[in-house]
Order: sequence, then structure tokens, then C-alpha cells
Amino acid sequence: MLLTQGVTKGCIRAASAAVRHVNSWSSTTWVSCSRTHIMAGRTALIVYAHQSPTSFNSAACKVAVEALQEQGCKVLVSDLYAMNFEASATAKDITGDLKNPQDFKYGEETLEAWQEGRLSEDITAEQRKVEEAELIIFQFPLYWFSVPAILKGWIDRVLSQGFAFSLEKMYDNGIFKDKKAMLSFTTGAMECMFLPDGINGDINVTLWPLQNGVLHFCGFQVLEPQIFWSIAHTPPAVRTALLVAWRARLNGIWEEKPLSFASSALFDLSFQGGFRLTPEVKEKLNAAPHGITTGHHIGKPLPPNNQTQADTENAKTISDILT
Ligand SMILES: Cc1cc2nc3c(=O)[nH]c(=O)nc-3n(C[C@H](O)[C@H](O)[C@H](O)COP(=O)(O)OP(=O)(O)OC[C@H]3O[C@@H](n4cnc5c(N)ncnc54)[C@H](O)[C@@H]3O)c2cc1C
Repeated sequence: MLLTQGVTKGCIRAASAAVRHVNSWSSTTWVSCSRTHIMAGRTALIVYAHQSPTSFNSAACKVAVEALQEQGCKVLVSDLYAMNFEASATAKDITGDLKNPQDFKYGEETLEAWQEGRLSEDITAEQRKVEEAELIIFQFPLYWFSVPAILKGWIDRVLSQGFAFSLEKMYDNGIFKDKKAMLSFTTGAMECMFLPDGINGDINVTLWPLQNGVLHFCGFQVLEPQIFWSIAHTPPAVRTALLVAWRARLNGIWEEKPLSFASSALFDLSFQGGFRLTPEVKEKLNAAPHGITTGHHIGKPLPPNNQTQADTENAKTISDILT
């Protein structure tokens, strides 16, 4: 009971702020007219992972499709459970003869298969969608602090070596550096449980592997995550308001500033240098009050909200120290 009350109060505050934000958008009709004009011709891909069409995730997906289409965007949806998308990365992902069936190495075989156009049809179809899209939204319920297995399978199989990354093309030199990506997800836990002193630990730490290790690694400009906290314990009216706020956010999505990550120029990108921060950079960073990012904490306190907010003071402080 206490738990539900806590959730309710927090959600109502968030929803009223969201509704205020929505009103400020809808009062300027000319903005939405010119926005439709500007956004026409753009393509967005929603990679959606929920089993049920009556779920909140399904509702969030539908809102995104409608909001983006209203802007004149082409919207592609990969409904992974409906597609019965294969989650396991296996030799079946390669058509034709394997290079080394006795000592099968998925990364090497798929790189060669991609170069020769021999990846399986389901992977190739998803890769075509990724190529076409300028924005990818991943819509899913948080499972075990991460994505559901079917979505992890999409990541493993579709974002293959050569197509999505290489050692020369990663992070801010990454293949998809002109594209945007964002995580939109629901949780079972309340927001306070994912604070730095909450039982689950800092949400910024939870998001680091997906946002840095997958999206930024492939070069994507990562937008702030859209998090629907403890959605099953949120009152119906607040859930409705959250969807209205989500729609309003999508109206401005193309102009959003991405999250800050560490520039690869700070690192010695050689095997000899170990791909580590250069000694000169480390010396300058002695004056920094926080680490550079959630991952690059260099033994200092973590920069607050590094994986949840684009406009952090820390990014500016670090860049001032380094210039
Ligand atoms: C394997 C597994 C692992 C998990 N791991 C984690 C974890 O690590 N951390 C964590 O926090 N949670 C975890 N969870 C919980 C999970 O994240 C939540 O159950 C999930 O996020 C809830 O989202 P949903 O879309 O399924 O909600 P639903 O239960 O489908 O929806 C919530 C409510 O919204 C209603 N709704 C649907 N459509 C609308 C609409 N249009 N307008 C208003 N209301 C609507 C539904 O009727 C329902 O009452 C895990 C769950 C599983 C099964």
C-alpha cells in the first residue's frame, strides 16, 4: 500500500509537468505545421519487443507511430514477437558454405557473409531498415536490468560486424554517427529504487552497457531515454497523461540534443596505447570534480545523470578543462 502511494504521488507530479509541457506545444499551431514540412521524407524505425497488444508498451509504440507519421515521417516497425524473430546467433544466420565449420566463429563468419551478401534473409531485411532509418526507437519492458532476450537477439544478429561497427569505425567515428537512437522502456521498479542510494542502484549505471556499449559504440547519437517507471502500479489517468507527454516529446525529437560521451580523441587508439586515455588528458583531468562519463569515472564520483540527461554541467566542465 505504502509502495503504491509513493508511486502514485511521483507519477502524478511527473504527469502534471508533462501535461503543462504538452499544452505549451499545442498552443503554437504554426510550429506543428512547419514541423510536418521539415520532417517529411524522414524515416524512423521502431524495434518493438512486447508479447501483448494490450500492454502499455504496445500503447507507447502506437503513440510513436502516430506521432511520427503525423510529422510526415515514414515509420517502420519491427514487431519482434509477432515476427517470431530468432533470438539466437547461430550458423543458420549464414547462407551457403561456412568458412570454417570445424571451428565456427560467429563474428568472423558473419563479417564475411555480410561482405558477400550471404547473411540470412531476416537479418538482411532488418539491416535494410536500419540503413533507411535516421532514428531508431527501441520500445521494450526492462527485463533483468536490460532488454528482453528477443531484442538482445536482434542486437546480436542485426548489428553485425562490418555492417554496424569495425575496429576503425566505432564510438564517435562509428558507422551510424549520422543516425539517432533511443531507448523507450517500462519498468516494474519505481524511479526511487533506481537512484544512486536506491536498492537497485543508479539507473545511469544500468543504462551504460546498452547506451554506450551498443548504441554509441555503433556511432549512434543517443537521445535521452524515455522511462515509464513502475507502469503497472501507475493510476490509469496518469498512464494516459504519460502517453500524451510521450507524444509531445516525439514532436520535438529531431531537434533533441544527444547524451554526452567521451570523445575518442581523448584516447590513444592503438594496441600499444591500450585504447586508454592519453597521459596528457589524464593529467588535465586531475582538476575535474567528476568522472567523464558513467563508465569513464577515472576513480572520481560519477557525473550525475550522465546517461539520462543530455544537458549536464559535467560535460561542459570536462570540455573546459580539456581545452
Ligand atoms: C523476465 C522479467 C524480468 C524483469 N526484470 C525487471 C527488472 O530488471 N527491473 C524492473 O524494474 N522490472 C523488471 N521486470 C518488470 C517489467 O519491466 C514490467 O512488468 C514491465 O515493464 C511492465 O510493462 P508492460 O507494458 O508489460 O505493462 P502492462 O502490465 O502491459 O501495462 C501496465 C498497465 O497499463 C495499462 N495500459 C495498456 N494500454 C494503456 C493505454 N493505452 N493507456 C493507459 N494504460 C494502458 C495496462 O492495461 C496495464 O494495466 C521484469 C519482468 C519480467 C517478466
